[in-house]
Amino acid sequence: MVDTKTQYQKIKDQVDTGIHKVLDSAAYINGTPVREFAKNLSLYLNVNHTITCANGTDALQIAMMALGLEAGDEVITPSFTYVATTEVVALLKLKPVFVEVDKATFNIDPVAIEAAITPRTKAIVPVHLYGQAANMEEIMAIASRHNLFVIEDNAQAIGCNYTLSNGTVKKTGTMGTIGTTSFYPSKNLGAYGDGGAIFTNDDVLAEKLQMIANHGQKVRYYHEMVGCNSRLDSMQAAVLNVKLKYLDEYITARQKAAAFYDNAFASVENITVPKTAHFTNHVYHQYTILVEGVDRDELSKYLSSVQIPSMIYYPVPAHRQKMFAAFGGSDYNLPVTDWLTERVISLPMHTELDEEQLQYVADHVLKFINK
Ligand SMILES: *Cc1c(COP(=O)(O)O)cnc(C)c1O
Repeated sequence: MVDTKTQYQKIKDQVDTGIHKVLDSAAYINGTPVREFAKNLSLYLNVNHTITCANGTDALQIAMMALGLEAGDEVITPSFTYVATTEVVALLKLKPVFVEVDKATFNIDPVAIEAAITPRTKAIVPVHLYGQAANMEEIMAIASRHNLFVIEDNAQAIGCNYTLSNGTVKKTGTMGTIGTTSFYPSKNLGAYGDGGAIFTNDDVLAEKLQMIANHGQKVRYYHEMVGCNSRLDSMQAAVLNVKLKYLDEYITARQKAAAFYDNAFASVENITVPKTAHFTNHVYHQYTILVEGVDRDELSKYLSSVQIPSMIYYPVPAHRQKMFAAFGGSDYNLPVTDWLTERVISLPMHTELDEEQLQYVADHVLKFINK
C-alpha cells in the first residue's frame, strides 16, 4: 500500500544527517529538532501553536482532556472512521455519539450532526477521512450555534486546503477549537516510528495542551493537573523536519496517481471513483473506490494473488464494534455507513507509484471486473 523504502532512498542523506546529529547531541528527548519541527509545522499550517506528542491517538486524548469535559458528556463523531477517534472518547468516560457520513465524500454529515445534538453534547470530532476535508464551515456554524467544541481529526489529511465561502484558504486541522494529527509511518507526513501533534490558535488552550502532554506540569515537579506522558522524540522530529519540506511534492505525487486511477476507471459502471467536495482539495491519504455488482472480497483476493495489495478501510464501523456495545452501538441505524463498509476498497496509494505500476493495478482491477 505504501513504499516508504524508496521514498527514504531519495532523502537518505538529509535524514541520516539529521539522525546522526541527534545521536551526537545525546538530546534524545526534547532536543532542538522537536522545537524546530513544531515551529516549522506551525508555519506550514499557518497556525499559532503546534504541540508535538507521541502519536495521533494521544493527540486526540490530550485534546479532549484539555477541554474540561465531564464524564457522560456527549461527543459526536462519525461511525465510519479509524477506531482511535471514537476509542479515546470512551476511554475518557465521555459518551461517543455516532452519526452518519455523506455517501459521496465519506465524511461526517452536518445535517446528521445537528440532529444528534442534545443538552449534554459538548464536542464534535469531524475526521477528514482519506485526505479530504469534512464540511468545516457548516460544522463550525453548528458548533457556534450550540456552543460546542470542535476537534478536527486531521490524521489523514495533513496539508489539505479548505476554501471558505469568502475565498479564504485554510489548512485542515487549523479551523476547529483544536486539530490533531498522526505521524505514523504510512500517514502522508510519516515519521520512522510513532509521532503526533496537536494544533490550536488559542494561547490559553495551547499552554494547557502542552502541560497535559507533560504530566500536567509547566515547571518541573510542580504538577497542576492530571496529564499524561506523551512526547515526540528527537530522532522522529529530525526525520519529520526533512519530510515536511517535501510534503507538498508528496501531495502532488499522490494527486497524480489518483488522476491516473480516476482516468482508468472513469467509464466503468461498477466502480465509483472518489469525489472531492467543492470546498476542499484532496491529498489522497487513501484512494478508495466503491465497487458494486462485483464481490469486493473476491476482488481483494484476486489483487493479492497478482501481488497487488488492497485494504478495506473500514470493514466494521464504530457502532458495530463490540468495544461500543455498552454505548448502545447496535441500536444505531446508520444505513449509509453500513452501505459504505460493504463496498469500499482502497488501492495502493503513495508517493512512489510510477505509471507502469499504476497501469498494472488498473489493468488487474478491470480484468477482474470485466471477467
Ligand atoms: C492514524 C489515525 C489516528 C491515530 O494515529 P496513531 O498515530 O496511529 O495513534 C487517528 N485517527 C485517524 C483518522 C487515523 O487515520
